[in-house]
Amino acid sequence: MKNTSLVRFVFLTLSIAALTGCGAGGQGGGGSRTIDLGTLLPLVGTEQQTMLFVREEEKMARDVYMTLYNQWLEPTFYNIATKSEQKHMDSVKAMLDNLGIADPVVSDATGAFTNTAIAGLYTQLVTRGAVSLNQALLVGAYIEEYDIVDVQHAKDEIIAGSNQTPIILTYDNLLCGSRNHLRSFVSRMGVAYTAQIITQTEVDAITSTPSEQCGI
Ligand code: ZN
Ligand code: ZN
Repeated sequence: MKNTSLVRFVFLTLSIAALTGCGAGGQGGGGSRTIDLGTLLPLVGTEQQTMLFVREEEKMARDVYMTLYNQWLEPTFYNIATKSEQKHMDSVKAMLDNLGIADPVVSDATGAFTNTAIAGLYTQLVTRGAVSLNQALLVGAYIEEYDIVDVQHAKDEIIAGSNQTPIILTYDNLLCGSRNHLRSFVSRMGVAYTAQIITQTEVDAITSTPSEQCGI
């Protein structure tokens, strides 16, 4: 891990730990099916805080990608934001609604967040992505690695806590999407990609395998 990445990772980890007690965030692929939530049981422990965080993380991914698309007109950003991150946002909102938990997204405007750590991250990432298209693509890959860590944490927490299958499947969809998005950003770069958060072995295992169909 490069020094700059390490600094950023520590900053992010601290920011998130302060708010949710956990690591990074997640996603799903385009065309994923809607999961039948049934009637979810109340969440236990920190599951609710984590779900609120993931909801806004999905929005952050969408908003960063739309901002970078407007700047660079790179279709990868537009496609992932509109075909996937919006669906991920919606799928987490569906869980919050089912559980009767207030939505932390009070404005759909780009860059508007309730969680101040996520707001700070948004600003940091769009600033980095404004430097060059290559930096913008690296930001995309960074967000996906970040999401893989966080959503895996969210999923593990549910398994250890209320252990509700529809929530686990929803988080699995987000993870599946993040793997596909990471593949897309790395392939668009056209150069060797160095892992920014997860291990190089984990990144290589993802980028060396074909795109997945999520939600099946
Ligand atoms: Zn996502
Ligand atoms: Zn994604």
